[in-house]
Amino acid sequence: MKRSTFLKTLVASVAATGLMGTASLVLAQDKGLVAVSMPTKSSARWIADGDNMVKQLKEKGYKADLQYAEDDIPNQLAQIENMLTKGPKVLVIAAIDGTTLSDVLQKAADKGVKVIAYDRLIRGSKNVDYYATFDNFQVGVLQAQSIEKALDLKGGKGPYNIELFGGSPDDNNAFFFYNGAMSVLDPYIKSGKLVVRSKQMGMDKVGTLRWDGAVAQARMDNLLSAYYSKEHVDAVLSPYDGLSIGILSSLKGVGYGSGSLKMPVVTGQDAEVPSVKSMLRKEQTSTIFKDTRELAKVTVSMVDAMMAGKTPEVNDTKTYNNGVKVVPSYLLKPVSVDASNWKQVLVDSGYYKESQIK
Ligand code: BGC
Repeated sequence: MKRSTFLKTLVASVAATGLMGTASLVLAQDKGLVAVSMPTKSSARWIADGDNMVKQLKEKGYKADLQYAEDDIPNQLAQIENMLTKGPKVLVIAAIDGTTLSDVLQKAADKGVKVIAYDRLIRGSKNVDYYATFDNFQVGVLQAQSIEKALDLKGGKGPYNIELFGGSPDDNNAFFFYNGAMSVLDPYIKSGKLVVRSKQMGMDKVGTLRWDGAVAQARMDNLLSAYYSKEHVDAVLSPYDGLSIGILSSLKGVGYGSGSLKMPVVTGQDAEVPSVKSMLRKEQTSTIFKDTRELAKVTVSMVDAMMAGKTPEVNDTKTYNNGVKVVPSYLLKPVSVDASNWKQVLVDSGYYKESQIK
């Protein structure tokens, strides 16, 4: 179609519908492609992240190329390489291993593709433009505060036995969660109000590769048989709902939660449906809700700002040093959820329907 004919047709169709909005929609549809690389579908939170990203990108007029790498590092690298061949304007990546992407990000930079680290920091590369995430240190603080509250440690109760679990050592967040939690727990451990019978402390000892619930379950089995044949475990710091489920199965396996064997305080993160149900059964004590709709919103605004030649809004320019640069970040607030506020936080906000939980 000749340009003049095309314009006439466009004007005619706008006039025919009588909606100027249609014209902006036609133009908005053309904002280009955004590639979104997610780590895995094995956890509901990442599925929600992907869905929210696609929905919000489309609403703003972008096309989305969403791919999941099933927790396989070479797979994620291959997917990103493949995405780059389709000419995206921006790459949004939630990395499996935050240290393995330098080469592919250099290729992205060479093509002028902007990069946003999504939820997890990408380490060791200068080619990371922005980081959208939650206040990860605060996640750990909230997890530990739930233990502090449930055991009434502030009220001077104790000593209590606690075991510690960390997330995947290749995920920068895992260290923030652990350090945040220890900022609250350490003083109690030092004063003897909390006792780690196994003495397993520090991310090198308590990390759980790939956030694998089965690995956490096996470690909990070992801890229980080695250190708790005569002792009661009163609290377990777990950084993620998927690990909490494994830990709880292990505990239930030796009788915790039945008879006189009281279930310990068990934390979590992501407010995944099975764990919210577990809280209502009085198994898991708490979880941390991170609203993936909000994270997608922040990320899409970053995309939109960069594409308009503007500077995206950030609220932290100090915390996230990726080894090469401090990546300008936007940190959202995590919310602690337990049996007392789940409805208000998760259902009233429209995140879940009550029927999904009950
Ligand atoms: C995320 C957590 C999640 C964990 C396991 C972390 O990077 O921040 O929300 O629980 O990965 O998927």
